[in-house]
Amino acid sequence: MSSLGDSTRCVHAGLPPLSPGDPLQPGPVFAAPYALPAEGYEPGIDGYGRGDNPTRRVLEAAIAELEGGDTLAFPSGQAAISAVLMTVLRPGDTLMLPSDGYYNVRTFASSFLADLDIRVVEAPTAGPYPSFDGVRLVLLESPANPSLDVVDIAQVAEAAHAAGALVAVDNTAATPLGQRPLDLGADISVASGTKALSGHSDLLLGYVSALSPALYEHMASWRTLAGAIPSPFDAWLARRSLSTLDLRLRQQTLNASALATFLSTHPAVSNVRWPGLPGDPSFEVASRQMRRIPGIIGFTLPSAAAVAEFLRASRLVVAATSFGGLHTTADRREQWGDRTAPGFVRLSCGIEDADDLLADFSSALALSLSR
Ligand SMILES: *Cc1c(COP(=O)(O)O)cnc(C)c1O
Repeated sequence: MSSLGDSTRCVHAGLPPLSPGDPLQPGPVFAAPYALPAEGYEPGIDGYGRGDNPTRRVLEAAIAELEGGDTLAFPSGQAAISAVLMTVLRPGDTLMLPSDGYYNVRTFASSFLADLDIRVVEAPTAGPYPSFDGVRLVLLESPANPSLDVVDIAQVAEAAHAAGALVAVDNTAATPLGQRPLDLGADISVASGTKALSGHSDLLLGYVSALSPALYEHMASWRTLAGAIPSPFDAWLARRSLSTLDLRLRQQTLNASALATFLSTHPAVSNVRWPGLPGDPSFEVASRQMRRIPGIIGFTLPSAAAVAEFLRASRLVVAATSFGGLHTTADRREQWGDRTAPGFVRLSCGIEDADDLLADFSSALALSLSR
């Protein structure tokens, strides 16, 4: 499969070969217990839904193909990230987190991990990174949400490994079509499948991929015992949505390119960030490391009120958090506690026509400026 193109792989990933009479897209299997042989449970058959589900296995096989490592699905990105943290870290360990990454991970670390006597040090995604000496786990996020800074994963992984640390990369924004952290030297790729991977704004999902069988088994055991299991229906929806990942990303990137170019010359807009924009601080490392740039843009309007005016004036941009969906959405991140300017907007480009978005942005910004 690896010699095939992205769209071909997305259509086929994880699905069993077809025999005459088979549905092309097998439906979900709903089960809590499964019927057992009279002699009792034997390994290799499905026994109970927390450990076994064929629909979940199809999704996991699909993501495993795309990420290049054994994969476990979780009911949310946070469930996947907390599984990594809780299986790798022990009391007395040190965790390195991005200072500009997903805020819920920092909150989890400063509350539940601090209670377990796990120390947290923060580093900005773009660096400079402090010494990795004494660090047990380095969690990177690239591109970071919401800063959109990009880190050279291979370079950090090499330095962190030399100091004896494990490296996990949050691959949510990039998706496995944008980059494969395991190929770049990371031990773990972890992500929210709620965003572009499933991409229809209708489910929550997370996953973890790892190369090491020991890490994978440890996290699988954690999942079965802690009980963080995605439903068969959500797993099925996610696998179904995965078929169009390449198509969706292509249009999102196209729209991001058009909008980032437009916004970067607009007088009311400052600090436009898109790693695909020549001149962006992350352009060089992103161009070298990533196979495609996601459709997420950061930009800043003069105030929170200006953002509200823009959203009221726009006909196509939906005010919503999350990103990577079919609709173009805008999120003023400061309202959630991100360390951003009041007028900072994270824009998630949808799959609408670029010309329609450009016309809408142009008139909505003009209207909001005239008020
Ligand atoms: C959304 C997000 C998460 C958390 O995922 P959920 O599915 O909402 O639990 C983690 N990391 C990043 C970068 C995210 O954007």
